[in-house]
Amino acid sequence: MKRIILHADMDAFFAAVEQNDNPLYKNKPVIIGSDPKMGKGRGVVSTASYEARKFGVHSGMPISTAFKKCPNGIFIKPNMKRYVQISKVIFSIFNTFSPLVEGLSIDEAFIDCTGCKALFGSPTEIALKIKKKIYDETKLTVSIGIAGNKSIAKILSELQKPDGLTICPEGEEKDFIKNLDISYLWGAGKKTIEILNQMGFSKIDDISSKTIQEMSHLLGKNGEHLWKMANGIDDRRVVEYDSQAKSISKEITFDVDTSDTKQIKHFINILSDKVSRKIRKNKIFAKTISIKLRYQNFETITRSYTFMNFINDYIRIRDKCEELFLQNYDNSKKIRLIGVSLTNFSFSDKEYNQLDLFDMNQSSYIINNSSIDHILDDMKTKYGCKINRGSLLKF
Ligand SMILES: [Mg+2]
Repeated sequence: MKRIILHADMDAFFAAVEQNDNPLYKNKPVIIGSDPKMGKGRGVVSTASYEARKFGVHSGMPISTAFKKCPNGIFIKPNMKRYVQISKVIFSIFNTFSPLVEGLSIDEAFIDCTGCKALFGSPTEIALKIKKKIYDETKLTVSIGIAGNKSIAKILSELQKPDGLTICPEGEEKDFIKNLDISYLWGAGKKTIEILNQMGFSKIDDISSKTIQEMSHLLGKNGEHLWKMANGIDDRRVVEYDSQAKSISKEITFDVDTSDTKQIKHFINILSDKVSRKIRKNKIFAKTISIKLRYQNFETITRSYTFMNFINDYIRIRDKCEELFLQNYDNSKKIRLIGVSLTNFSFSDKEYNQLDLFDMNQSSYIINNSSIDHILDDMKTKYGCKINRGSLLKF
C-alpha cells in the first residue's frame, strides 16, 4: 500500500462510557440524549447503546420516538466532561502510533501510518495494537478501517462494528465497496441520498458505473466528488489537526520587558506569520483573530476582531493584529508577553479567498499576497525556516 490510512471510530462511544462507569447499565439499553419527559421531550438521541439499537433506537432520532420504541431504556443526559476526558486518553494512544492524527470528532480519527511499519508492524498488526491499547486503558472497543485512502478507510470502519477491523487490499477499493448502499459514501448527506434514490441510485456501483461527466451533469461538483468516492479515488491528506482544538495560537515572552512599539510590532509580524502558516498547512480558515497583551505587572488583556469572511492570509492577520495592538496598548506600561490567536474555524480543501465587501480596493493586494504566502509555505517546507518575508527580518 502506498499510503496506509486507518480510520478509528469508537463504538457507541457515549453510551459505552456510561456503561463502563455504571455497572448497573451493562448489557442494558442505554440512550444518551435530552430528557425524554415520558415521550413528550424535545431534542434528539445523541448515542444509543447496541442493546438500545435492537429496539430501533439510533442517534439523531427524536428523543420522543426513542421513548416510544424503548420505554424501559435508561435515558441519560450527556456528560461531556467525562467523554472529553476519555477522548484525550484515546487520542494520546493514536498519537503514540503516528504523529499524523486527524480528529474528526470526539471519538473518531484518521491515523496516517504510512512509514510506521518498521516500528509497529503490518497495517493489521498496528490496528490490533491500537485496539488492544485502547481496551487495556479504557475498557472500550473501537472499530478500525484500513485502506490506502481516507474515504475507503472511513467506510471500512463502519462495516464490522462493534470491535471491527476491516482492511482493503490496494487496488481493490472500487470492488470492495461497490455493493454497499450509497449512504456509506463519505460526503453523501441525507438530502443527496434522497435525490440519488429518486434518480434510481441505490448501490455505490450505480454511481461508479456512470462517467464522471454524467454525475457532474446530475449533481454538479458534488456529483464529481461522489463519483470519485464511489470509484475509490481520494487523495486528500491526513492533516494533523485536532478538530477539538478551538483555537490556534502563538505567543512570545520577551527576554526583557519592553515598550518599544517597533519591537513589539516586529513580534506581531512573526506571530501572525506563524499562526497563518499553521492554519494554511491544515487547510483551515479562521474568522476571528485575537491579540493578548500581558503587562509587566501581569495584568493581561485580550482583544478580538471578527472578519466578515473566513481568511488565512498573513497580511490581513498581521494588519488586524497591529491595529488591535495600537488601539489597545497602554504605552505607559511595559509589555512582558504578546500572543496572537485564531478561532472560529472553517475547514476546506478549496481556497476561499473571499474578500470583505468593503475591501474591494484591497483585492488585488490581498490576492497577490496570498500567492506569496503559498510560495513561501512551499519554500519553507523545502528549505527550512530560513526563508522569510523581508518584513520579518528586522525591526
Ligand atoms: Mg463512534
